[in-house]
Amino acid sequence: MTAQIIDGKAIAAELKQKIRAATQMRLATGKRPPGLAVVLIGDDPASKVYVGSKRRSCEEVGFKSESFDLPASTTQETLLEVISTLNQDDEIDGILVQLPLPSHINADVVIEHIAPHKDVDGFHPYNIGRLVQRNPQLRPCTPKGVITMLQSSGIELKGKEAVVVGASNIVGRPMALELLLAGCTTTVCHRMTKDLEAHVRRAEILVVAVGKANFIPGDWIRDGAVVIDVGINRLENGTLTGDVEFDSASQKAAWITPVPGGVGPMTVATLLENTLFAAEHLHI
Ligand code: NAD
Repeated sequence: MTAQIIDGKAIAAELKQKIRAATQMRLATGKRPPGLAVVLIGDDPASKVYVGSKRRSCEEVGFKSESFDLPASTTQETLLEVISTLNQDDEIDGILVQLPLPSHINADVVIEHIAPHKDVDGFHPYNIGRLVQRNPQLRPCTPKGVITMLQSSGIELKGKEAVVVGASNIVGRPMALELLLAGCTTTVCHRMTKDLEAHVRRAEILVVAVGKANFIPGDWIRDGAVVIDVGINRLENGTLTGDVEFDSASQKAAWITPVPGGVGPMTVATLLENTLFAAEHLHI
């Protein structure tokens, strides 16, 4: 079998087109554009790339984007003040604080300081709690983007054996909650899992978010599985690769996402989708 590619770039472009059209409709009815504030602390090169892409995408769809680039020495108190101001700002619907933060800032405190109705990353305990209780509001972007990719490829999820490898707060855990909500029988594997291979071998839907290049051998993939590779790893030669051995996995899977051009573009498009949702339904 040679897997069909799930083209995240194309699906994200289509989603952005819909968001752009909805934004133009808002403007035509006299409403203001959705507003996203993007806060970057320090000069981590990868964070700068992600933030740049988020800001450019805002422009593409006609959102207002406000940038706050603060030095690495910024105190937690100052950052909380910036967030308080944005929480009150009538033209801002979404607040994104790019992670990771410098070690002197407590990310949990910062995330909990964002007003839940402006938490477009979906990391606030209120939004995670709503996802747990099957009544999601603002949903973490990467897992929600994965669900959009699966749905737009016509992949049935109800009753499927789903295995998520990775249990982080931003990808693995909320991914498992999304798959549970979609009706999968869901297993979460992490660094303490015994016999990872056995879990991966029985996955009909496999999502890998570990952050280790080619960590899952293609030979482990179940025949006909759907393989979603969230990992982004930069090799010494500068190329990007995922967490799954792509070539050999493609020989066994029915569907697979490439890296780059798979989950990455969906994360950004879903951030815009969340910001539009916040503007349309949650703005107080
Ligand atoms: P993380 O380091 O916070 O979490 C990694 C997870 O992998 C942990 O839960 C850990 O238990 C698990 N793990 C580590 N070693 C393991 C092992 N030997 N067996 C089983 N599980 C193991 O990372 P993260 O923030 O969740 O990101 C994971 C990857 O996804 C990274 O490559 C990151 O760059 C990428 N990522 C991509 C997007 C995107 O938009 N495509 C978004 C977020 C993260």
